[in-house]
Amino acid sequence: MTGRVLSHLGETRLELGPVEPGPGPWRSARDADNVLWLVLDVDGSSMNTISEEVIRALDSALQDAEADLPKAVVIRSGKVAGFAAGADITGFEKMSSTGATEMLQEAHRVLDRLEALDCPTICVVHGAALGAGFEIALACDYRIATPGASFGLPEVQLGLHPGLGGTFRLPALIGPTEAMTLMLTGKTAHTKRAKSLGIADLVVEERHIAAAIASVIDGEVKPAASGFTARAFGFDPARSLAARKIRSETEKKAPAKHYPAPHALIDLWEEYGDDRDRLQKAETDSFALLLRSEASRNLRRAFFLRQGLKDAGRGEDGITHVHVIGAGSMGTEIAAMAAIRGKQVSLGDLSEEALGQAVKRTAEICKDKHLDSLETRDALDRLMPDPNGYGLAQADLVIEAASEDAEVKAKIFKGLKGKLKKDAIVATNTSSLSVDDLAANAPAKSRFAGLHFFNPVSKIDLVEVVRGTATSDKTVQRLAAFCGAIGKLPARVADSPGFVVNRMLVPYMLEAMVLMDEGVSKEVIDTAALRFGMPMGPVTLADQVGLDIGLHVAESLSDSLETKMPPISDDLKRRVEAGDLGKKTGKGFYDWSKGTPHPDADLEDAPDDLRDRLILPMLNAGAEGLRRNVAKSADQIDAAMIFGTGWAPFRGGPMCYAQTRGIDDVVRRLRELEAAHGPRFAPDDGWSRFA
Ligand code: NAD
Repeated sequence: MTGRVLSHLGETRLELGPVEPGPGPWRSARDADNVLWLVLDVDGSSMNTISEEVIRALDSALQDAEADLPKAVVIRSGKVAGFAAGADITGFEKMSSTGATEMLQEAHRVLDRLEALDCPTICVVHGAALGAGFEIALACDYRIATPGASFGLPEVQLGLHPGLGGTFRLPALIGPTEAMTLMLTGKTAHTKRAKSLGIADLVVEERHIAAAIASVIDGEVKPAASGFTARAFGFDPARSLAARKIRSETEKKAPAKHYPAPHALIDLWEEYGDDRDRLQKAETDSFALLLRSEASRNLRRAFFLRQGLKDAGRGEDGITHVHVIGAGSMGTEIAAMAAIRGKQVSLGDLSEEALGQAVKRTAEICKDKHLDSLETRDALDRLMPDPNGYGLAQADLVIEAASEDAEVKAKIFKGLKGKLKKDAIVATNTSSLSVDDLAANAPAKSRFAGLHFFNPVSKIDLVEVVRGTATSDKTVQRLAAFCGAIGKLPARVADSPGFVVNRMLVPYMLEAMVLMDEGVSKEVIDTAALRFGMPMGPVTLADQVGLDIGLHVAESLSDSLETKMPPISDDLKRRVEAGDLGKKTGKGFYDWSKGTPHPDADLEDAPDDLRDRLILPMLNAGAEGLRRNVAKSADQIDAAMIFGTGWAPFRGGPMCYAQTRGIDDVVRRLRELEAAHGPRFAPDDGWSRFA
């Protein structure tokens, strides 16, 4: 291969054949062997997204290729970050249903043209190839992956299904069972799995790409053929039977009423799974219909809310070394995430055993996050158990995650004086104590704030960055950037009891306990919440959080919020005294010894107002939070609740739900509940700002 151009950024070099840097979206050139290289490099962004412009430009490159057929076509990305993140969904927002159908038909024509090209087509993938990016790769004859590459069709997460041929090309490649699983869950197949599934024909290091391409062109690599399962499902009865089974499994996780997209996908496959042409047309029609659904609109809204938080986490954090104090469930995972993302971490605890466990847990998290053995070794090398606090002197950020006890924390902060670097920030992970009160003992109040992570830290992306009265702008900005740097989503909130998320969750959990005191079963309560779309019922949630922690947070909030809280039930206090703390002790309201409870009760005899009694207090707490400027906007509350608690994303978040339902209706209903059950339901004055 001659005239090789290597695009580099830091350590990463991409083999781009003869293609020179220049404006995108596609840059093309033929090498000395008449191989046409098409490099996708969308201008003005660090990652490619697939827009109408990208598809049009691909079409014109393919026309040129048809006119003068090259020996082969190689498609790859010029972005160091990866192949492509999926369709440019900002484009969807402006599109009418007819506009969407026309655009999709046109894009299908272009990918069919790529598929039909009369020479080998090879897609080289590094990093992620998602959604429409993966669908371009699927239209090629071969896919060569580099280690770390991943493939996925996550459209269901946006209330859609694949729209550029994924519904027929992926089943044809890897068989319908695996393809449907990938499309219905929206999960990603990482390199090893992609290879074993037959998505990637080869996995080679970046430096061997040229040789791998040559071996494909020389016919040494055979494309993966569709296997027995694909043929078996060519029969209508077999497909119908399988579709029925998949449908009932899907209904349990994503009910059709709330999540129509996966069900539409199953329908497509059942009806047209053996007829590619009809499936291609039906895929487009179904996609255009889903685009208009309320669920997809709200899920796309959630996507943009995530982008907003991500943007808030951009910038320089100036943090190389983090010292975490407390190697309990929170401190361990905070330390692990920071080490995985390249920070030097020292982790202190009074207990040596806790530090040993922390290292073990970090290795487990590395595995969950698909790190290879070298990356795991490097992450573990960066994490230093530090019982004597030697790391404090190097730390740019100290995160306190010791026990939730004001005196313990005060002693820790006093002990930091004189031990830290000049600009070091100190942050507390407290859930229920006042950041301002804790700041009294901090070495420097302007460089002190809350950094409220959620349990489990390795899975929940949200972090509330809590600004105290004296916290400087720079400290808040650096902490938000730190969250971004370790892959988290920062929500900047004010120091107020419960911050945003707990302020809204506690009334939900306490009302559930009042209902239990009234004789409503925990299964009925949890089922009502699950059917509304919450990821977990309030009783299961209380057990999961830990009844001791829940009680502590509830007591501190009950004393300090303007909105009246439901009374704290004696049953809760009794269980805490007895040591039945929920999941962590194997018993709380539920028996956890046999695993996570999955309540699914008959709601026939449930109280009529059950659902509103659980959900509306959360919205009311949100209205109070807005009025008291704990959060900047209703959108921010929605983002915090969706990414901190999994709050029914297809409803767009609690404040979006309130607006969709109608603020007048919410307020009227709260008044009715107030009359029936007491002042804790009194509508907050904050609703007037929505009028
Ligand atoms: P935990 O009890 O699991 O861990 C606390 C750890 O701190 C223990 O290992 C303990 O040995 C250690 N510790 C106590 N005093 C110490 C000291 N002086 N120096 C060093 N280490 C000390 O607690 P957790 O659940 O990890 O919570 C830690 C903090 O995070 C608390 O402030 C809690 O409110 C907050 N938080 C917890 C959750 C949650 O769901 N668990 C969620 C958000 C925030």
